[in-house]
Amino acid sequence: MKVELRFSTERVSEPIISSVILQEKAQINILRAQVSEDGGRVLLEVPDNQADEIIKAFRKLGAEVIVGKIIEIIEDKCIECGHCITLCPVNAIFFEKDYSIGLDEQKCIQCDSCLDACPTRAIKLYGE
Ligand code: SF4
Ligand code: SF4
Repeated sequence: MKVELRFSTERVSEPIISSVILQEKAQINILRAQVSEDGGRVLLEVPDNQADEIIKAFRKLGAEVIVGKIIEIIEDKCIECGHCITLCPVNAIFFEKDYSIGLDEQKCIQCDSCLDACPTRAIKLYGE
């Protein structure tokens, strides 16, 4: 499953991910990492059968862990133009039968293309 870590600037230089890999003896894949002066965001693929323990371990080390939802679409703002659908490299966004916009969070690789491209700013990072 995919989980996103968000951590503060103070934690950026700490080896949080390698600590959890060693502690949990888990294979964790880093799919995407972004670090700035505001902190870090890292998208990880973790084994389903170890996910609970891994999430607990990251939280214990001070990281915020987002499970399931990475981005969200604000329905009231969406004009169903479909621009985000054409840009998504992994087909994580699609038209539902009623032409509203659907999102498959487990496919999303957090590339941010849809966030930047939406003309009405209807897509945002979950929890922000
Ligand atoms: S780009 Fe924005 S307005 Fe257009 S369909 Fe996607 S979320 Fe809706
Ligand atoms: S962030 Fe990237 S991968 Fe995720 S839904 Fe948007 S365009 Fe697709």
